[in-house]
Order: sequence, then C-alpha cells, then structure tokens
Amino acid sequence: MKEEEYDVVVVGAGPAGSMTAKTAAERGLDVLLIERNPVIGVPVKCAEGVSREVERFVDLDPRCICTTFKGNITYGPDGTQVILSVAGEEVTGYVLDRQFFDKFLALEAARAGAEVRVRTHAYGVIQEEGYAKGVYVNSAGVDVRISADVVVGADGVESKIGRWGGIDTSLPLNDLAICAQFLMCNIKFNHDYCELFFGDEIAPKGYAWVFPKSADSANVGIGISGDVSYDHHRALDYLNAFVSDRFPNGKVIAEVFGAVPLSGPKYETVANGMILVGDAARHVNPFTGGGIVYAMRDGEIAGDVIAKATHEKNFSKRRLREYEKRWRKEFGRVLDAGLRIKNIVLGLNPQEQNKFFHLLAGELKIKGFSERGLLKEVIKKNPKILFSLLRMML
Ligand SMILES: Cc1cc2nc3c(=O)[nH]c(=O)nc-3n(C[C@H](O)[C@H](O)[C@H](O)COP(=O)(O)OP(=O)(O)OC[C@H]3O[C@@H](n4cnc5c(N)ncnc54)[C@H](O)[C@@H]3O)c2cc1C
Repeated sequence: MKEEEYDVVVVGAGPAGSMTAKTAAERGLDVLLIERNPVIGVPVKCAEGVSREVERFVDLDPRCICTTFKGNITYGPDGTQVILSVAGEEVTGYVLDRQFFDKFLALEAARAGAEVRVRTHAYGVIQEEGYAKGVYVNSAGVDVRISADVVVGADGVESKIGRWGGIDTSLPLNDLAICAQFLMCNIKFNHDYCELFFGDEIAPKGYAWVFPKSADSANVGIGISGDVSYDHHRALDYLNAFVSDRFPNGKVIAEVFGAVPLSGPKYETVANGMILVGDAARHVNPFTGGGIVYAMRDGEIAGDVIAKATHEKNFSKRRLREYEKRWRKEFGRVLDAGLRIKNIVLGLNPQEQNKFFHLLAGELKIKGFSERGLLKEVIKKNPKILFSLLRMML
C-alpha cells in the first residue's frame, strides 16, 4: 500500500473541513484535505440560508451569494406571522450558492497551503497505542495509508471517523431531521424573506421552508423528525402535498434529500489524536437546523488548537480538549437553548403551538446577526414566553 505523511489529515471538504484545513495551513502545518466526491460542493444538501455572521470568517466572493434577504417570516399552524429582522439592517442574511461557496472555501484552504484531494474516500482510521495516527483512503482507485498526528472528522451528518476513533456520535431517529427539498421556479412568494411554516399537517415535528434563490426561484423544502417518517408519510410525501397546495404551477428544477443532526451538543468531540467538527460533531442548532456558521467557527478553533498541539508535540485528548472548551464557551449555550426550544415547541399540540406563535406575533427586530441575539429579543419581547411554554408542557 502506498504511504504518505502529513501533520493533519482532514476528512470531508464541507465548510467545517475547509475552514479547519485553511486555519491549520495558515499556521504553517502540512495539511491534507480529502473529499470523497469528484467535485467539492456537489451534491448540494442544504437550503443555503445563512445569517451575515458568515462574514466574520471569510471575505465572501460575491459569487457565493445567490440573493440577500431582509429577515424571516415564520407562520404558526393557524397562519400567525412572526417577522424577524435585524434593527437598522436592510440585509439580514444570504441565500448562498453552496456549490460555489464550498469550492470557494476549499480554494481558500488550498491558497493557504493545504493540499486538497478529491475522489478520495477515507475507509478507516489508523490506531496506534490508543491514538488516531492517520487514515486509510482510497484515492481514485488507489489505496493509500496516510499518517498524521491529528485526524479531523469533518465528514458531515453520516460521520464515521468519530466512531472509528472511539467517539460514539450515533443519533437516535428522533434526533435526526429527514429532509426533502425542491429548487423551484414559476412560483409566487415573498422573495425578500426566508419563510418557515409550522404545523403537524405540513411537517410533523418539523417545518417547511421557502428560501429565495432569486426573484422567481426558491429552495422549497420540508424537514420532519426521523421517528415520524414512515411509508406514505415521508418528507417527500409532505413536500409534494405542500407544493401542490401552494405552488400548483411551480416547476421543479432539482431535488435534494438529506438529514440534519438535531441532538444538540451532547457528544464528546475530541479523542487522542482526533477532533470532530461541524455536522460530524453534531454542531447544528436543533431548532433552526442551521449548521454552516457553527461548522466554520469549529474549523477556525480546531485549526488553531491543532497548530498549538503540534508546536507542543502533544496530541492527547487532554490537550485537544481546548477545542471543546472553546466551542462550548462560544456557542454551546445557544445550541443547548435551541434544543430546549425545539423539544418544547415541537412537543406542543397544534393549539399550544398557536399560543406560542401568538405570544410572539408581529415584528421582532433583533440587534445583531446572531441566534444568541434572537433568543435575547424573543425573551425580551415576551419574558413570560419560556415560563408559559414550560407550563404548557406540564
Ligand atoms: C436539506 C438541508 C437543508 C439545510 N439548510 C441549511 C441552511 O439553510 N442553513 C444552514 O446553516 N444549514 C443548513 N443545513 C445544514 C448544513 O448543510 C450543514 O450543517 C453543513 O453543511 C455542515 O458542514 P460540514 O462541513 O460539517 O458537513 P458537510 O457540508 O456535510 O460536508 C461533509 C463532507 O464530507 C464528505 N465526506 C463524508 N464522508 C467522507 C469520507 N469517508 N471520506 C471523504 N469525504 C467524506 C462529504 O462528501 C461532504 O462533502 C441544511 C442541511 C440539510 C440536509
């Protein structure tokens, strides 16, 4: 078997993997970023909506952006509207072109000095004396043993790297949203906003979305909890019903199927010689299903910690735990709060869900772009909201 050696091998070239590779390479490490697919960013498994927080991490190439939006409009089961936007900002977020965006991030990693290799599938982790020491890959038909001091699992929702390295991140079905999405044109919708629709009939234990891609095209999708997905009640069945109800003349240009981990941050994300980032670490807001921004921040923190560990020649779990401490400090509480809100809202019956939306009905202008800012404003608008919800649950 062919053999190669790097400081770090990053498995998966999504936003988490590319940001990890970019950051580690910027700090002078010898980095290999591998991707199983022949083209980075394809297939897209995303509704592509992101807040302007994304600009904290990279100077976005304008071609990454399909369109901008002013905010979100969320509809309760009885149609009650909650309009969210950022005070003083015309643009709250972007609907990305993930095919371009993911390639752009991988290019940034390559420009920083990382080697990027597509059509390269990791199929095992090298273990030596209780440490991950690299990965076995098949690269365009050739088996290669890649040694590295740190293995980064950036392999998304289906992640196997963690399991192979001794971190159990398996997800029960009720911690997984199963999603179906169409890229549609010939439809009438409010292209200034991302729209979200709640209600058991539309999407049991989930929601439907319409995210504008342009003035006349949108990502129209449904996510439902894995434990309520069964024959004739799959995400695609609900999506077909939603589309024929709202967009009977719409045309479907592309179909997307995927899953989102909604467990919250309850898993370990480090082991000896290993770090998990992004969806592989289950870093997605369990209420909104948004993961792009967390994946990017994970990548920055992981790349920085790996560089320090390399300098100190200490790749123990104890040393790498700095990564875990830092992401928990930055957004652990937001993900925890997202999980609590998800469990409460999706556990309500339709009448109680309506009450929830009535408490927030109208327009809500938040101060920053972050979900933390949103939570603060929700509680400020109606301080009784969490209490009321808890009471509904009792
Ligand atoms: C339908 C849907 C809609 C979504 N909408 C939004 C949204 O609007 N906004 C938002 O913020 N988030 C959204 N998300 C979540 C978002 O897509 C993820 O959180 C984000 O992509 C996570 O990035 P990542 O780098 O961790 O993983 P990914 O983007 O999934 O990248 C993982 C990469 O690893 C590769 N890989 C996997 N295994 C291997 C292997 N063994 N060897 C080599 N390569 C491997 C994969 O091919 C993939 O390219 C959505 C998800 C879905 C499914």
